[in-house]
Amino acid sequence: MIAEKMKGMVANSSAIRAMFEEGNRLAGIYGAENVYDFSLGNPNVAAPEAVKQAILELLEDEDPVVLHGYTNSNSGYADVRQAVAESLNERFGTGFEGKNIVMTVGAAGGLNVILKTLINPGDEVIVFAPYFGEYRSYTNNYDGVLVEISPNTADFQPKLDEFEEKITAKTKAVIVNTPNNPTGVVYSEETIKKLAAVMEKKQKEYGTEIYLISDEPYRELVYDGVEVPYLTKYYANTIVGYSYSKSLSLPGERIGYLVIPDEAADSEAVLSAANVANRILGFVNAPTLQQKIVKKCLKEKTDISYYNRNREALYQGLADCGFSCIKPEGAFYLFVKSPVEDEKEFCAAGKKYHILMVPGSSFGCPGYVRLAYCVSYETIINSLPKFAELAKEYF
Ligand code: PLP
Repeated sequence: MIAEKMKGMVANSSAIRAMFEEGNRLAGIYGAENVYDFSLGNPNVAAPEAVKQAILELLEDEDPVVLHGYTNSNSGYADVRQAVAESLNERFGTGFEGKNIVMTVGAAGGLNVILKTLINPGDEVIVFAPYFGEYRSYTNNYDGVLVEISPNTADFQPKLDEFEEKITAKTKAVIVNTPNNPTGVVYSEETIKKLAAVMEKKQKEYGTEIYLISDEPYRELVYDGVEVPYLTKYYANTIVGYSYSKSLSLPGERIGYLVIPDEAADSEAVLSAANVANRILGFVNAPTLQQKIVKKCLKEKTDISYYNRNREALYQGLADCGFSCIKPEGAFYLFVKSPVEDEKEFCAAGKKYHILMVPGSSFGCPGYVRLAYCVSYETIINSLPKFAELAKEYF
C-alpha cells in the first residue's frame, strides 16, 4: 500500500501523464508532424556548442576519479561556487562569495533543499497564482501549507493588497517566479519594491523572519531588452533558486544553485542546513560533471532569438484568430484566455484539432490555458490554421 500522502500526489500527476500519453496516441495515429503539442516546457533548442566542448575538455583533462567522485562539500565544488558568485557579482553588482552558493539538482532540487531547510509542519508558504503547480507538492513534502494569492488577470503582476492580508504569523516563505511560468510576465521593479515593503512591514508587525524565495529558471529568457530585477538587492531575506535547465538547455542534466546571501536572516545556519538537506534528501551533491561544465560556460546562453521568433509568430497568429493573451516578456509560455469559462472544455475542443494545451487550473488560474512555445517553428506555423478552425467554434 502506498503512503496516504502520496495518493493525492499520484492523482495530480496522472493528469499530466494522461496529456503526455494523449500526445503520443495522436502522433501514433496522425503522425507527429500533425500533432501540435504545446503541453511541455521542455526546451527544443540544443545546448550551446560550448557545452559539448566543455564536456570533451573535462573528460580529456580532468582526473576521472575526481571528476566523477563525490564533492568534498555537499554544497558543491569550491571553485565552481566561487565562479558562480563572481559571475553574479559582475552582472548584478552583488557581493556574494563562494560560500553563499549551494549547487543543486536543478531548480526543483534547490527548492526542495530550501523548503526542507526552512519549513516546520504547519508553516505557510505564499504563492501568487498563476504559479508552477509543483510548488504545492514541494511545500507538502515538508508538511507546509500552501497559501494562494488569487490571480490579477489584468496584467498578471501580483495582487499586493491580498498578499498583505494573507501574511500571518505562520508565514515562513513567499515564492516568486519571474519571468513567470505560465504567463511569461516579468515582475516590474516597482512591483518588487512594493512587495519587499509589504514583507518588511509584516516582519516587523509579527516579529518574524519571512524568506522570499526567487525561483528563476527563466532569468536569461527575456525579450525586447526587458530587465529582470535581482531580488537580493531589494529585500535582505531573499534566497535565489537558479537552474541551467532552460538557460543552457540542460533540463535532463539536473544542475542549478541556490544563493543564500549573508544578509538573509540566520544565513550561516541556513547555509549549513541547506548543505545537510542536499545530502539527506538523497541528492548527496549536484552532479559533479555538470558543475564543472557550468563553470566553463558561465557566459553562454541558449539561442533566445529562436524562442523570440516562436513567441512573435504564435502571439500574432492567435491574436489574428481572436484569442486574447498578454504578450509575454520572458520564458517560453503564452497564457491564453479561454473563450469559455471552463478551460478544460476548451482544451478538450483543441484536441479535436490535435492541439494540446494545459488547463490554467493546473497553475491555480482557471479560465486560461498555457501554451509552451518551446517547439519547432514549423509546429507553430502549421498549428495556426488549426487554431483558426478552433476559433470558429467561439467567435
Ligand atoms: N520552477 C519553474 C517555474 C519551472 O518552470 C521549472 C521547470 O519547468 C522548475 C522550477 C524546475 O526546473 P529544473 O529543471 O531546474 O528543476
